[in-house]
Amino acid sequence: MVQPYRHEPFTDFTIEENRKAYLAGLKTVERYLGNEYDLLIGGERVTTAKKLVSYNPANKNEVIGRVSLANRGLAETAMQAAQEAFKTWRKTKAEVRADILFKAAAIIRRRKHEFSALLTKEAGKPWREADADTAEAIDFLEYYARQMIKLKDGVPVESRPNEYNRYHYIPLGVGVIIPPWNFPFAIMAGTTVAAIVTGNTVLLKPASNTPIVAAKFVEVLQEAGLPKGVLNFIPGSGSEIGDYLVDHKNTRFISFTGSRDVGVRINERASKVQEGQIWLKRVIAEMGGKDTIVVDSEADLELAAQSIVTSAFGFSGQKCSACSRAIVVEEVYEKVLARVIELTKALKMGDPTNVSNFMGPVIDQSAYEKIMNYIEIGKSEGRLVAGGKGDSSTGYFIEPTVVADLAPDCRLMQEEIFGPVVGFTKAKDFDQAIQMANQTDYGLTGAVITRNREKIQKAREDFHVGNLYFNRGCTGAIVGYQPFGGFNMSGTDSKAGGPDYLLLHMQAQTTSEMF
Ligand code: GLU
Repeated sequence: MVQPYRHEPFTDFTIEENRKAYLAGLKTVERYLGNEYDLLIGGERVTTAKKLVSYNPANKNEVIGRVSLANRGLAETAMQAAQEAFKTWRKTKAEVRADILFKAAAIIRRRKHEFSALLTKEAGKPWREADADTAEAIDFLEYYARQMIKLKDGVPVESRPNEYNRYHYIPLGVGVIIPPWNFPFAIMAGTTVAAIVTGNTVLLKPASNTPIVAAKFVEVLQEAGLPKGVLNFIPGSGSEIGDYLVDHKNTRFISFTGSRDVGVRINERASKVQEGQIWLKRVIAEMGGKDTIVVDSEADLELAAQSIVTSAFGFSGQKCSACSRAIVVEEVYEKVLARVIELTKALKMGDPTNVSNFMGPVIDQSAYEKIMNYIEIGKSEGRLVAGGKGDSSTGYFIEPTVVADLAPDCRLMQEEIFGPVVGFTKAKDFDQAIQMANQTDYGLTGAVITRNREKIQKAREDFHVGNLYFNRGCTGAIVGYQPFGGFNMSGTDSKAGGPDYLLLHMQAQTTSEMF
């Protein structure tokens, strides 16, 4: 019998044995740095002359790997392979599909620290962040496999005498999976297997900054016994194959996680019915965030400061859940700000392979430039009180940065920065703080630090975000515990790791037989 779901525990790196295990993982990764990886189309490995090169963001000259790049012709071949595989995969029993996910989870668990070390090298994730990313990938496999088993017989409906009605879910068809680089393992694996376990076949186009971890995951699924053609791995650029596949008449759905601009573009293109297309495409989109921690006057101020710092600077703020705004009630504003400055200045930044570094680099040159530009904007809109400097000589390092005294409608408080920058705004009271927190196009996460139950209730009713947290930070949702996804421009409120996520990848069918 399948054991009840429980999330994969995080590794305690204060224990020497665990540190050794991670370092052994790092050694394994170092042995395969620079290797080449192929496309996978219909179970066949395909090598192309044109390569995508993945670099270490902490050490710009270090090559993590080279992966073949698909062009339109190969994307078309992959589409046909996925359509062919769909004919049998859609009829494969749910338990058989789920078993492949369970097996893959077991393989990853055995190679856990190797995968985490690869995330450190390819995405610049410090140990704890990398470990959480790997744990979440395992969680998605374990959770979605169980969810599929629960859904396999559909939902009971009523029948009259001599009638037998059934209501059940069937897959959609071929899906295009476009994951982000910031959770290069968890979100890439989660979006891929949610589509697969529900009986669809997919084209996986990994993020250009992090294709190697995706290539390794594809190998794991093959080892776990995934039939050929169910998952087709086709790294490529958005302009060469992304648009082509989004527009394709045979694409049934698109599962995208990434920026607002790209999400809106995909949604627009997908809505156009192409010649020969016989359905409306479904779009599952997880986009940006401008997430706020609200601090009330009746609050544990130490908890507030700790929550702001961890949520703002974990993985250098490169999470759509990251706290990029702190809205603090006047009475306690200076106190909270002073403590946040103190904690921020104590954070260690540097090579993420060193366990003592809390923060590593940002992902690449263009992210570096964009974030540094926002820091300049911040300096003109508010008061720079911590950090502010960057160094891109060896890797893309930016200090954890705090900008105080910002107007709620200024650019720093409105635009997604996706870096280690948090802005502070003063509110005259709790009601105004909630109103300011809602003053954004996004609606992903938010947190409220207060001891007052009435204010908790007010926030429950009025703070309009998909993931609302009380007396804790606003990052770190756990699969199966805190289904994750946002409102408004944060996406389609598809709740990853939640009880209805798989349904987004299926369609319901009613059958009715007379006896
Ligand atoms: N699920 C992650 C969290 O709760 C964030 C995912 C993302 O940044 O896309 O922190």
